[in-house]
Amino acid sequence: MIGSCGQRQSCRSFRRVAVVSITPHVLGLCLLLATLAALAWPMYSNLPARHASAVRLRRKGSRRLEGDCMSKRKRGADKASARVPRTDVVDRVEEQAAALDIRRKQRIATVEALRGDRRTPLRVIEVAAQSAAVADEAFNQAVDRHSLKDRIACREGCAWCCYSQVRASVPEVLRIAEYLRTALSQDDLAATCQRLAALDEKTRGMSNLQRAEAALPCALLVNDRCSVYSVRPIACRKYHSADASVCERSFKETTNSLSIPMFYSVFERVTHVQDGLLAGLSEAGLKADLHELTTALRIALETPDAPERWLRGEKVFPTCLARGFSDAR
Ligand code: SF4
Repeated sequence: MIGSCGQRQSCRSFRRVAVVSITPHVLGLCLLLATLAALAWPMYSNLPARHASAVRLRRKGSRRLEGDCMSKRKRGADKASARVPRTDVVDRVEEQAAALDIRRKQRIATVEALRGDRRTPLRVIEVAAQSAAVADEAFNQAVDRHSLKDRIACREGCAWCCYSQVRASVPEVLRIAEYLRTALSQDDLAATCQRLAALDEKTRGMSNLQRAEAALPCALLVNDRCSVYSVRPIACRKYHSADASVCERSFKETTNSLSIPMFYSVFERVTHVQDGLLAGLSEAGLKADLHELTTALRIALETPDAPERWLRGEKVFPTCLARGFSDAR
């Protein structure tokens, strides 16, 4: 009995010791979980706003990603009033997964096409054509998925966005050069080369902002239409607007205050095609920079062996900017 009493007592003290030593750990764990939840909440609470509409890109300036299409006040109201539907979170995650998958496929396709002895100028042009087709497909998929067809304001003859710097990869530049050589008459080709040279003289070395403020039309813009529409670079394919009047006002204003409303899901998918193309070029051992279209196209047209030299690893085209998602255009 004495023994059992003594056991009970030692049991009680053991429990007391256990509770005293475990409680701080439990409390610490709860505190950690609460901190993690507090940190994660702003990220998830903002998801519908991020998904719902678009990115704003500055019409004049770097055209980099800025945020959503929605105004700050509207975003605040949304945050306060709406609970985050689970479907929005799932949708956003699926969207990002689809974009990354597009990038991966484009990278692999580019590496496959330009491997070893397959590296010919014709192959390079085919890669540009293939990536442009994928970019169009990605654009249309995003438009269909979010029912945006009637909300995109871009129409034939609307060219407010063709007055700024365009960046393109070498395959895209070589494809446009080849198109101009084969599709245009000698006179039209000479006129295009003249416009390219004149614009290059005026704009070479300009920053993105200076180029936009100069408001000079792209040398390939003829009567407010893109003269190389079927072979235009991915940068021009992904660029779009939800409101043409903002594009017009932004073009006419001298300040850099307006942003162009764009749909994030569309922009993101097509950007990943461009990124996959550049990643594939790099993996295939080729230079994977983005180049200012006017200068690069002029060089491509004036240098008959530019494709072969570029394939040999020579630096034929001056680099415009490092690649990346933020290189909107
Ligand atoms: S290439 Fe065509 S679409 Fe792109 S900026 Fe020039 S004219 Fe516009």
